[in-house]
Amino acid sequence: MKDKTFLMIPGPTPVPESVMMEIAKHPIGHRSSEFSSILKEVYENLKYVFQTKNDVFMFTSSGTGAMCAALENLVNEGDKVLCLSLGNFGNRWAKIAESRGANVEKIEVEAGEVIDPNILRKRLEEDTNKEIKIVTLTHSETSTGAANDVKALCSIIREHGAISVVDGVTSVCAMPCKPDEWGIDVLVSGSQKGFMIPPGLAFLTANERAWKVYEQCKHPSFYFDWAAHKKAVEGNTTPFTPAVNLIVGLNQALKMIKEEGIDNMNARHRRHAMALRKAIKAINLELLVKDDNNASHSITSILPPEGISVPDIRSTMKKDFDIVVANGQNKLKDKIFRMGTLGFVCDRDLIAAVGALEATLVKLGHKFEVGKGVQTIINELKEI
Ligand SMILES: *Cc1c(COP(=O)(O)O)cnc(C)c1O
Repeated sequence: MKDKTFLMIPGPTPVPESVMMEIAKHPIGHRSSEFSSILKEVYENLKYVFQTKNDVFMFTSSGTGAMCAALENLVNEGDKVLCLSLGNFGNRWAKIAESRGANVEKIEVEAGEVIDPNILRKRLEEDTNKEIKIVTLTHSETSTGAANDVKALCSIIREHGAISVVDGVTSVCAMPCKPDEWGIDVLVSGSQKGFMIPPGLAFLTANERAWKVYEQCKHPSFYFDWAAHKKAVEGNTTPFTPAVNLIVGLNQALKMIKEEGIDNMNARHRRHAMALRKAIKAINLELLVKDDNNASHSITSILPPEGISVPDIRSTMKKDFDIVVANGQNKLKDKIFRMGTLGFVCDRDLIAAVGALEATLVKLGHKFEVGKGVQTIINELKEI
C-alpha cells in the first residue's frame, strides 16, 4: 500500500512526521540570525547526544564523509595506521587511510565475530617503538550486526598512546557510546542512522589528544578541515552552505532525543534488538552473531532457512507488507538478511515486523510453529 513503507534497512531509517514537517519548510538563509540561533541549539544538543564536552562538527555529506574528515586531518604519508576490521565498514577505514598514503595494518575477524581485546593488547605491546600512530575501529559493524567492546578496546589503545578513531555511525543514539568517559579520541556518525533524519549530514567530535595530531597534519582536508569547523561552531555558523533544511529537521529530532533521554533511547534499542533475537530463534532461524554480548543493538543479521532464498524473503516482505529489510553485503550477499531497529522504531513496529516475517516464511514454505515469533516478541518486550 502506498505511503506505508517501513524501512528496516540500516539507513536510511524512518523519519518522524514532525521532523518531516520541519524539513518541508522553505529554506532560510544560512547566514541569517534565525538560522544561527537554530545552529546554536543544534550544536549544544549534539554534545548531549555524543555525551561529550567537546565540540561536535557537522558536515554536509554521508557518514563516509565524516570518516574522511577524521583520517584526512590526522594522517601523513607513511604513518602507521592499525585498522581493526569486523567487515565492510572496518575495511573502509583501511581504504581511506591508504588513500592518504598511510602504512596500513589490519586485524580482521570472521563475519559476525568481534575484536578480542587480548589480541589488540598483544599487538600494541609488540609495538615497542610506538610506530602505530592511529587505531581505527567500528563500534557497530553494520555489514554483520556485530558490535565491539569499544570501552575495553579504547582503554588498551590509550595505554599504548595511539589515537583511537571510532566509527559510531550505527551506534551513536542506539548504544551507549561515551567518548569522554571511555577515551575515544575521534568519534564519527551519520544522520540517516540513529538520528531519525534523512541522509545528508555527518558528525565528528575530537578531543585534545586528537587535535595535537591534527596540528601535525601536513595537508589537512579543505572541505572537512577541523579548524574551519571549530571556528564555525564557536560562531554558531557553518564554513560553507550547509543542508539547511536537514539541519532544521535535525533540530527537531534532537529535541525528541533529549525528551526521550539518551540513556532511555539506548535502552530502547537494546530491548528491541534482544527481543528480536529471541523471536528469530523461536521461529527456527539462525543468527549470524551468536553471542548476545557481541550483538549490535541496531542491526540483526539472520540466516535464511535451508531452501529459502534471501531475495525471496526480501521481495515477499516488501510486496506483501511494505517492510524493507536489507540483503547482506559483498561476501554475505544472499547469505544473510538484516533487520534494522535503528532510530524511530517502536514496539508496534517490532511486533508487526516479526508477524510479517512469519507470514512471509509460511508463504515460502519454512517449517516452524506459526505464532511462536510473535508470542516471543510480545513476552520479551513486556519483560525486558
Ligand atoms: C552507513 C554506515 C557508514 C557510512 O555510510 P554512508 O553510506 O557514507 O552514510 C559508515 N559506517 C557504518 C558502520 C555504517 O553503517
